[in-house]
Amino acid sequence: MKPLHIETPLFESRPLSLHAGRSVWLKLDALQPPGSFKIRGIGFACQEYVRRGAKRLISSSGGNAGIAVAYAGRHLSVPVLIVVPETTSDRAKALIRQEGAEVLVHGDSWQEANELATSTVDESDVLVHPFDDPLVWQGHSTLIDEIARSGVKPGALVVSVGGGGLLCGLVEGMRQNGWSDVPVIAVETEGADSLAQSVRAGHRIELPAITSLAITLGAKKICARAFDCTRDHPLRSIVVSDRGAVSACQRFLDDHRLVVEPACGASLAAVYEGAPELEDFESVLVIVCGGATTTLEQLREWARASA
Ligand SMILES: *Cc1c(COP(=O)(O)O)cnc(C)c1O
Repeated sequence: MKPLHIETPLFESRPLSLHAGRSVWLKLDALQPPGSFKIRGIGFACQEYVRRGAKRLISSSGGNAGIAVAYAGRHLSVPVLIVVPETTSDRAKALIRQEGAEVLVHGDSWQEANELATSTVDESDVLVHPFDDPLVWQGHSTLIDEIARSGVKPGALVVSVGGGGLLCGLVEGMRQNGWSDVPVIAVETEGADSLAQSVRAGHRIELPAITSLAITLGAKKICARAFDCTRDHPLRSIVVSDRGAVSACQRFLDDHRLVVEPACGASLAAVYEGAPELEDFESVLVIVCGGATTTLEQLREWARASA
């Protein structure tokens, strides 16, 4: 079956390379039709669930995952229900509805929306998890297949981490392509740093609350497989500020004319701020993971708020 994601551009960024004093490659998954890399894993998982007989797709994400499920459902001709909390922005709801999915608003927090979504699922439905599903990881691993096919092998890979699904997929893709020697630089924002704190503690911790504005990175706890990846694969964990992430989004807009959200700006901030973790590498490759709900106006507001 034809995948629901597209092959995205990969190139060496002149402005970021000059700035960082090393070769900086960009994999532009912000250009996926639903706005982020999420369609790789979620698209693959939804195709597989529908092939196995699922009659409806359900999600409780008001962000890029929900948009990806809605996009997948439209292409697979299956109805989609997305249950979101009242805090979800009008723009996010509009993007989901634009894909033809039904949006149900319930509760003050994601937990409440997720409880309703979970209780709504019957045996012919499937509740699609945004990051903790081996099918999702398998879909995300196509990022590495594409990069390897193009003949590029970077010194290190820079990637943003929320619940860790993208990380799991990349590590799987690297294993399959014989890249187990390529370290991952895992980036989070302060207040959404559940991987960094887990690495430090030596076990998976749960954050009491998410205080970063990069809500897409706001999983209180990373998935178990992501924690295993921090041990099975060479990995350095770094944490940037919200301000650094937003400022990186603004600089990236000037440098490459693309709006991305702070979750993605976090990875770019590692380059723009010259993180010492990059120093050992002649070349790094940044997964420009995207973000569909952010607007230019929103970026300006965040920049004011985090200044
Ligand atoms: C989902 C998402 C992330 C985090 O991915 P995880 O698989 O949860 O670690 C980062 N950036 C963007 C733009 C996302 O949509």
